[in-house]
Amino acid sequence: MHLPVLLSLLLSFTFHTFAIPVDRGDKDGDMGLVRKYLDDFYSSDPAVIGQFKIGGSDPMTEKLKAMQRFFKLKVTGKPDTETLEVMTKPRCGVPDLGQYALTPGNPKWEHSSITYRIVNYTPDMHRAEVDKAIQKAFEVWSNVSPLTFKKLDTGTADIMISFERRDHGDNSPFDGPDGTLAHAFQPGPYIGGDAHFDEDELWTSQGGRGRNLFLVAAHELGHSLGLSHSTDSGALMYPTYSYTEPSAFKLPQDDINGIQAIYGKPDVAVQPTGPTTPQACDPKTTFDAVTTFRGEIMIFKGRHFWRKLPQLPDVELYFISSFWPRLPTTGIDAAYENFEKDLLVIFKGNKYWALSGDEILSGYPRSIDHLGFPITVKKIDAAFSDRESGKTYFFVGGKYWRYDEVRQSMEKGYPKRVALDFKGVGPKIDAALHNDGYVYFFQGTKMVQFDLNSKRVVSKSQKSNSLLNC
Ligand SMILES: [Zn+2]
Ligand SMILES: [Zn+2]
Repeated sequence: MHLPVLLSLLLSFTFHTFAIPVDRGDKDGDMGLVRKYLDDFYSSDPAVIGQFKIGGSDPMTEKLKAMQRFFKLKVTGKPDTETLEVMTKPRCGVPDLGQYALTPGNPKWEHSSITYRIVNYTPDMHRAEVDKAIQKAFEVWSNVSPLTFKKLDTGTADIMISFERRDHGDNSPFDGPDGTLAHAFQPGPYIGGDAHFDEDELWTSQGGRGRNLFLVAAHELGHSLGLSHSTDSGALMYPTYSYTEPSAFKLPQDDINGIQAIYGKPDVAVQPTGPTTPQACDPKTTFDAVTTFRGEIMIFKGRHFWRKLPQLPDVELYFISSFWPRLPTTGIDAAYENFEKDLLVIFKGNKYWALSGDEILSGYPRSIDHLGFPITVKKIDAAFSDRESGKTYFFVGGKYWRYDEVRQSMEKGYPKRVALDFKGVGPKIDAALHNDGYVYFFQGTKMVQFDLNSKRVVSKSQKSNSLLNC
């Protein structure tokens, strides 16, 4: 008998702060959380069940290890701070079985022309907005597979979409605002493929307050088509959710690979590709921009950035959009820390943004000619600020400019040639960092350590990703 697995999605917007996670100190509450989390998401992992049979070790410890493996945490079998932090993140309610993008048993639709019907509408949005969000969510998948989706207005469709509240007759009651937001069933007859959205959420077609229906639906419909969760933290099918500006959304390569493993490629001349998640220790890893900010180091790459906290051994990867939804999501050019004003300054093309924590200051983005660049400068390659002198250095091609943060003006006599004042650096600089008394230039996969006082290269032998503890 075919029993569709119930999949639920738990989403919420968290506002991150630049603070180090501290020990929560509530041991009983933590153990309750750990138990519920493991029961909900790690109870039927075949690998874990196998472990029970072999060793007879504590099932809770084995489940915890399975969870730590899935999230690529240190496998300690103990609910350490890092593990608890992941467990408190908003996430999908689907169990995290195995390492694969395919649902176990590989249920799939046997026809490629799939029908859907929106059975009822949320009052939170105009009907046309709901129709559009759902249509766009289906397009995410039809763009990269041979599947087509047709909307029916009456009768029974393969995928029945509805807004439901609390107990709604499928043994999986919704839980009011927040928590579980939606759930969907794997492909199959009757309830198979259906997607339910929690009416107690505020559904919206934008970011900010409420839940973005398009983003939740795109994830849920992945389940409706037979995908399970991915361990790729950049994937749409990752268990925890990050907000992305819907108009800038591009289906990641991991999800493309997942759907094509089930249904094959679309019949188009140019095959679609999607963004991939950067791998810190890939020998080819290069950086877009690197800077300090409030005691940590931030390393930007494509849609992501790593945070390196001095107190913690590991680096953490985040979406740029999960901190600053309104920043460009296709990779930034340069970044530096403005120590005078406690700001993070980000450059992309001829624009720049001033950020205070996760807030973008009003009036930004501004054009870089505000800083005194000639209009011939279309983008900045790299920047760093020297806290002691209050000077910020900007690198553009083979030249550099110096800006006085106290006087808030570009210094006279610039640009100068990089080859003269930074012998051994360049010609192509991706990113620059001032830290621990040295300047680090990132040039492709190479990192050049430079002493600003003696004006000489100290080391040239290290890889860029040695910054990420590789
Ligand atoms: Zn999910
Ligand atoms: Zn339901």
